[in-house]
Amino acid sequence: MTLVLWDLDGTLLRAGAPARDAFTAAFLAVAGRPPTRRAGGISFAGRLDPWIAGQVCRAEGLDAEAEAALLVQLPVELAARRDRLAQEGVVLPHARETLAGLAAAGWHQGVVTGNLRATAHTKVSALGLGEHLDLEASAYGDDGPTRGALVPIALSRAGRDAAGAWVVGDTPHDLACARASGVRCLLVATGGHSHDELAALEPDAVLPDLQGALAVLTGSSP
Ligand SMILES: [Mg+2]
Repeated sequence: MTLVLWDLDGTLLRAGAPARDAFTAAFLAVAGRPPTRRAGGISFAGRLDPWIAGQVCRAEGLDAEAEAALLVQLPVELAARRDRLAQEGVVLPHARETLAGLAAAGWHQGVVTGNLRATAHTKVSALGLGEHLDLEASAYGDDGPTRGALVPIALSRAGRDAAGAWVVGDTPHDLACARASGVRCLLVATGGHSHDELAALEPDAVLPDLQGALAVLTGSSP
């Protein structure tokens, strides 16, 4: 009766330049010009891809039609960079052993991410992280209006309730979405937030990285 819903970016992996380049290329294809730096002040960590596209399009003076087209083009451009993603993307420390350890302990593992389903699948497969992840018992940025709406969707798809479930993420948004559904939350300081910043939010557990995550999660099970 134990389930982990993993965040991707900053928690299990870092997609890096190929993902940034895919966004720029998608924008160029839709707008006919590169993005300006006007959207540069927006923090994207922990946000849903449709929210990010909306913010960028508004900052760039693009309409809803362009926003929709950007969301169609984004997975296409990332898929076109799959080889680079496999080379330049990073699986964060202790991610593989934690996934394998939880699987060996009989835990069910899905994903709750702001990535579109297609971009999430490209990242997971390019970096070879799919072996222990159930990408159907998961929820993505195109499944709901907010991150908070995604956890109940993933729980439902996994056939589980909140008891015995954890969200593992790297931002306050991960904690908020877990709290909204009564799911426990482990935060790791491998994204844009420091250990102290995350600890101040008082999640159920906080770690510098995924070393020790297996012990925290399996130690919590009845
Ligand atoms: Mg993240």
